[in-house]
Amino acid sequence: NYLIETKNLCKHYLDGSVVALDNVSTGIKSGEVVVIIGPSGSGKSTFLRSLNLLEVPTSGSVIFEGKEITDPKTDINVHRRKMGMVFQQFNLFPHMNVLDNLTLGPIKLLKKSKSEAEKNALELLDRVGLKDRADAYPSQLSGGQKQRVAIVRALCMNPDVMLFDEPTSALDPEMVGEVLDVMKSLAEGGMTMVVVTHEMRFAREVGKRVIFMADGAIVEEGTPSEIFDNP
Ligand code: ADP
Ligand code: ADP
Repeated sequence: NYLIETKNLCKHYLDGSVVALDNVSTGIKSGEVVVIIGPSGSGKSTFLRSLNLLEVPTSGSVIFEGKEITDPKTDINVHRRKMGMVFQQFNLFPHMNVLDNLTLGPIKLLKKSKSEAEKNALELLDRVGLKDRADAYPSQLSGGQKQRVAIVRALCMNPDVMLFDEPTSALDPEMVGEVLDVMKSLAEGGMTMVVVTHEMRFAREVGKRVIFMADGAIVEEGTPSEIFDNP
């Protein structure tokens, strides 16, 4: 039984001249940490973005919590709230301070009270070591701090799964570790995670399953040791 399942997902661009996904079928179980690796242009980001329909597949289906969300009759916003997403470029609102970035979604979409949303946000900020930056604006933060805030923002929505699209690729090397540490502790806490990354050490140490993509297809999947230790 899967939390998210994809069946024969295809994504074509430019009238079919670009095949970004070619019949991708797989499943992600609750509590699983799946790391997606593969060369640039192999479809990793398209696959990840298809899971919450940021990219609408050309054909095939995505089943999330037992519901076929690719069915045009479903209200994707209801399901998307349950899928936290973290991007390479943070995507924080620059004109809002950290706390307001964190509470906007819970207040607007989950109808939480301001005080409840702030209390929850501050607790989560504390866990990533940033409680003292609640009043800062994104421009006043380092890249590593911004990405930790972006992770907390997703967590404030109380998601059932977290999707990460190359979360450390835009960071200076000295800040990569602090973000991977937060992701590692999330994984250890039992969060279901799908992570597109080039960080092979993270894939090996934190991934429960590794999916290797090439040319829009899954060419290998298995435990880290099956993927990395076999010649
Ligand atoms: P990866 O994340 O593995 O680098 P992507 O999923 O970003 O791969 O891209 C897969 C393929 O689809 C690439 O050939 C890329 O150029 C192409 N592609 C991605 N997005 C678009 C788009 N909006 N329009 C046209 N081609 C796209
Ligand atoms: P990523 O780092 O996630 O693979 P890219 O830097 O390849 O993303 O692409 C950035 C944006 O450009 C994405 O929105 C993607 O959909 C789009 N894109 C990627 N490749 C193409 C392409 N060949 N034609 C048009 N848009 C593209």
